[in-house]
Amino acid sequence: MIARPAGMDDNVPTPRPLPALVNLDYSADERAFRDDVRGWLRANLPPAMRDKVVHYTHLSRDDLTGWHRILADKGWVAPSWPQEWGGTGWNVVQRYVFEEECGYAGAPPLIPFGLTMCASVLLKFGSDAQKQRFLPRIYRGDDFWCQGYSEPNSGSDLASLKTSAVRRGDRYVVNGQKIWTTLAHMADWIFCLVRTDPSLERKQEGISFLLMDMRTPGITVRPLILMDGAHEVNEVFFDNVEVPVENRIHDENKGWTVAKYLLGHERLNTARIGTSKREFEQLKAFAATQFRDGRPLTEDVRFRDKLTRLEIELMALEITNLRFLDQMRGGRAPGAEVSMLKIKGTEIQQMLTELMLEAAGPAAQAIDATDADDAGSAMIAALAPRYCNMRKTTIYAGSNEIQRNIIAKHALGL
Ligand SMILES: Cc1cc2nc3c(=O)[nH]c(=O)nc-3n(C[C@H](O)[C@H](O)[C@H](O)COP(=O)(O)OP(=O)(O)OC[C@H]3O[C@@H](n4cnc5c(N)ncnc54)[C@H](O)[C@@H]3O)c2cc1C
Repeated sequence: MIARPAGMDDNVPTPRPLPALVNLDYSADERAFRDDVRGWLRANLPPAMRDKVVHYTHLSRDDLTGWHRILADKGWVAPSWPQEWGGTGWNVVQRYVFEEECGYAGAPPLIPFGLTMCASVLLKFGSDAQKQRFLPRIYRGDDFWCQGYSEPNSGSDLASLKTSAVRRGDRYVVNGQKIWTTLAHMADWIFCLVRTDPSLERKQEGISFLLMDMRTPGITVRPLILMDGAHEVNEVFFDNVEVPVENRIHDENKGWTVAKYLLGHERLNTARIGTSKREFEQLKAFAATQFRDGRPLTEDVRFRDKLTRLEIELMALEITNLRFLDQMRGGRAPGAEVSMLKIKGTEIQQMLTELMLEAAGPAAQAIDATDADDAGSAMIAALAPRYCNMRKTTIYAGSNEIQRNIIAKHALGL
């Protein structure tokens, strides 16, 4: 019943509440599920791993696979896979809740190249033999994968890629170069887009999708050091690399179909709302300990204004995401609008690093990470490199300009 102002004529009918167009609340079951996940994370996320994440320490392969294996032992590492391959059978809301709770708790990220990307492709397009060979190893974290899509001059315009694969009997001979290949220096396997027929007029045709063992002779990995000084991405060169034809996924020259399918999966996971919520709380707590003119920064009107704007953006992102989830609950797959999640999610991640840096002030420049003798100082020392590092988020997984083009074309019909 909606309360009416005193004195209102009793004969005026009470306005009926509008029917809810979108349900943005979790149901009682969904809340109970969230509490279970939260409780399990509290008991099972090793504090040392969490500390590394919240203090922005670079994670080693052991850190990344360590958390992967804890989740695999629990049966929670690949929620979206079919249950026969180890999936949890959770619905789309539960999967989202799980991901967000992991981010909120400070769990190390799960590297998506094997679990999310290659596995989705194998599940959709792989033969039974390919599934049997690769999926269990991906599930257990035995193989570490990387993604060989981008090339010099073929990033946004991916279909112009030139790395060639020439068929010789039961092998392809691969020559060319990939670039920006994240964690290739840690990887056991790479999935690649290669050109198998350069004669076809449409550049999207003539591309195939190959899986390559990184130990194959002829593969060379060279580091590219990012502006934060970290080794995260690489160039990968292929010099007469022989790849068995059985490592091709889907038909020859149909790799673009696979590539497009995979890009959709890549973009769904870029909003990272749980992580941003945790970092926002961390930012507020940190700003409260930083003083300007004798007052905590959280009492500075201009800084508070920036904090508030950021919080509103984050809430709006969460609501947008819940709106998509509600659509998916009803069986409707979200379309090009998911690009909004990538744009806003990554802009917020960058804003968080900017405000953390602003809160630390000159101290962020003054502390050398090698001199930091406590976790707080190490975290402050990590802020400037992290600010530089996070510039990447609006570039990778399809730059934000490209996402805007997608929205304009496919969602707004421009
Ligand atoms: C840290 C990092 C990690 C990465 N990891 C991987 C990886 O593991 N595997 C992999 O394959 N790739 C990876 N990439 C590559 C990434 O996908 C590309 O950098 C991205 O697609 C952009 O391509 P590009 O760098 O060639 O830039 P370009 O495509 O040359 O674009 C340059 C600029 O022009 C803009 N632009 C281009 N075309 C248009 C257009 N039509 N309309 C409007 N603006 C446009 C872009 O937004 C960008 O600002 C990574 C990149 C980074 C930075």
